[in-house]
Amino acid sequence: MRIGHGYDVHKLGPGRRLVLGGVEIPYELGLIGHSDADAAVHALMDAILGAAGLGDIGRLFPDSDDAYLDIDSLVLLDRVTALVRARGFSVGNADITVVAQAPRLSPYVDKMRDTLAARLHVAPDRVNVKATTEEHLGQVSTLGIAAHAVVLLEETAPKLRNL
Ligand code: MG
Repeated sequence: MRIGHGYDVHKLGPGRRLVLGGVEIPYELGLIGHSDADAAVHALMDAILGAAGLGDIGRLFPDSDDAYLDIDSLVLLDRVTALVRARGFSVGNADITVVAQAPRLSPYVDKMRDTLAARLHVAPDRVNVKATTEEHLGQVSTLGIAAHAVVLLEETAPKLRNL
């Protein structure tokens, strides 16, 4: 088994869609970034890549490359999932915490879980999504939205990785 951790934060601003965990959330502000700036999916991908020893999303999908401009982060997650599966890993489970002062995210966490589980090719009970505020004590969660992720990868075909 391999464990990985991921963290990401994006700033909130006007004129952008708010997409978290692959789910669009109605709000007057959205996250600013080169892609759709889905901080939850970015943290998840970094946790997967970390567990597999494959670096991070900045290395795989550089923001200097226009191919990734405004890209749906779920498409990038599909690539990361395919990459680690090709290396003989499967996702054991993933636990994601989204940190946002606003908007209220709890109505959307189950949809995020189902969306991410489908993209990871695992049952929904292997993915957990939580949302928390920082009780107005954190600057990050008022100016933007952050996400932490922890992932356990299982080596399904360890010998294949050495071919
Ligand atoms: Mg990011």
